[in-house]
Amino acid sequence: MNSEMKVFIHPTAVVEEGAIIERGTRIWHFVHVRSGAKIGRNCNIGKDVYIDVGVEIGDNVKIQNGVSIYRGVKIEDDVFIGPYAVFTNDKYPRAFNRDWEVVPTVVKRGASIGANATIVCGVTIGEYAMVGAGAVVTRDVPPFGLVVGNPARLKGFVCYCGKPLKNSDIVEQRDDYIVFKCRYCGKEVQIRREDYEKCLREGGCSE
Ligand SMILES: [Zn+2]
Repeated sequence: MNSEMKVFIHPTAVVEEGAIIERGTRIWHFVHVRSGAKIGRNCNIGKDVYIDVGVEIGDNVKIQNGVSIYRGVKIEDDVFIGPYAVFTNDKYPRAFNRDWEVVPTVVKRGASIGANATIVCGVTIGEYAMVGAGAVVTRDVPPFGLVVGNPARLKGFVCYCGKPLKNSDIVEQRDDYIVFKCRYCGKEVQIRREDYEKCLREGGCSE
């Protein structure tokens, strides 16, 4: 087994019994991983990250310092979570409610979440979507969607590479999809027409 394949856990991290961490993953200073959490391969879990009971994290996920991920959150492969981003899991929090319900949240493959963003529970962040720094996400984000602000609004769409797609990058219009060709990496990206039209209605996709 080469060093790439091993799991690295810094001596100051607390990984509870019953947590699953797959090969190639690195867990840095003062991380706390609760029992029943599952972290896939080749992930990087930064300093002071908290991963709650039952949280599922895919492969090649990068989580920056100080992120809290609570029960009910699922993170798919290739997701980036910027420093001090936070997830919630209780829609109607009260200190004295005993029968509160976990509301699930999903971050789909390839999505990125900016520094200090807040993801309110119950939303799905679509494949390769981009959440701006400090955004407060209260609704679903479509695949490749770029959302910013509080409450987060759909401003436009991004490529697989993360760069913004502009209207001048449109190369084909189909019934269901609008095809963009990224001016930076050359990849073609299919955006669902309904998502694009929603973006226009909300004042985004103007460039
Ligand atoms: Zn691109």
